[in-house]
Amino acid sequence: VERSDLLSQLPPTSTTLSRPVLVTGTEGFIGRHLRAALVERNVPVIGVDTRCPEPNDGASLIVNSRLCQVKADLTTMELSELSGLLAQVGAVVHLAAATDVAASWDTGFADHAASVLGTQRLLRACQLVGVPRVVLASSSHVYGPGVTGPVSEDAPTEPTSPYGVAKLAAERLALAYARHPRSTMSVVALRFFTAFGPGCRPAMVINRMFTAAVSGQPLPLYGTGTVPHTWTYVSDLVEATLAAIAAPLDAGQGLVVNAAGSDAASLRQVAERIGDLVGAPVPLRKTGDRAGDAAATRADLTRAALVLRWFPKVGLDEGLRRQWQHLRKMFAPSAPPDWSGAAPSRAEPSR
Ligand code: NAD
Repeated sequence: VERSDLLSQLPPTSTTLSRPVLVTGTEGFIGRHLRAALVERNVPVIGVDTRCPEPNDGASLIVNSRLCQVKADLTTMELSELSGLLAQVGAVVHLAAATDVAASWDTGFADHAASVLGTQRLLRACQLVGVPRVVLASSSHVYGPGVTGPVSEDAPTEPTSPYGVAKLAAERLALAYARHPRSTMSVVALRFFTAFGPGCRPAMVINRMFTAAVSGQPLPLYGTGTVPHTWTYVSDLVEATLAAIAAPLDAGQGLVVNAAGSDAASLRQVAERIGDLVGAPVPLRKTGDRAGDAAATRADLTRAALVLRWFPKVGLDEGLRRQWQHLRKMFAPSAPPDWSGAAPSRAEPSR
């Protein structure tokens, strides 16, 4: 079956998001939540990811009447094929990227560099087809160390990890394409702060803390664990993204906007709250310092409120409660949790 045939089976939509949305990274943590939210709103979604839900034959599949999932790698797929997928879409949300911060220091940087290339190819295809809106997932990792108060989008960018450098490069590319003299596209680069919630990757610190509390296995803690981080519940990031798709911007406009939760807490404070929920402490083992961790992350959300009319709704306590509700179903009383594919345990906020 040709992809174009599959795409033609997607029905038109009747919501304000009046055209299909192409989302990259739809098999990832945030992507799975976003595609569900779009489908729920009757917006047809074309998902692109190197991974694909099972079972599949390695090509495209209609997962349901609103979702067409395409298994493809943005760094290698034919530009003509990418442009074909973009032909009918009203917006692109670009989430696909390498996301392992620690690996970015070593040979893993090849994946992060490839993500930048994938971003450029996607933007070029959007430019060729005339996609009106691109929303791109950037990161709080583009900010430098030593930021003490809430950081605004105008603060100097000074990434402290190769991952952050790659995110900044992708963000800048998107703005350059938006501001091209003959551009017909507008871009919102959302700087996501550390996300959490049901379905987050096993290697992410909040999941690992729940696992450590249940299993009693100590979790290595880098640094003092007392630096406050902003924790953002995944549904809030999804809503920020939906708002960015619909935000009234002119062609040629490119904006960077923080998207973050309203609560900041240190790793030790989060561990305490998780311990209370589970009814057993999170055992932490102090392990020294590590390069690349942002000193502190708190977001100024003024621009998000003004441009997107968005503000986070789910606080840290409520988000942790929801995540625990979801996770505890996976913990059989007598068996340790099965985090198949889990990365080495490390207490680090992932961005
Ligand atoms: P994730 O790792 O769970 O998902 C990323 C998805 O992208 C994966 O399914 C992967 O297969 C896909 N992908 C990677 N490279 C691809 C390629 N070349 N072609 C097609 N698909 C590809 O990540 P996530 O947590 O859902 O994050 C989504 C985005 O948000 C990323 O860009 C990330 O940098 C950014 N972000 C995330 C957080 C967070 O806390 N989760 C914070 C800040 C920014």
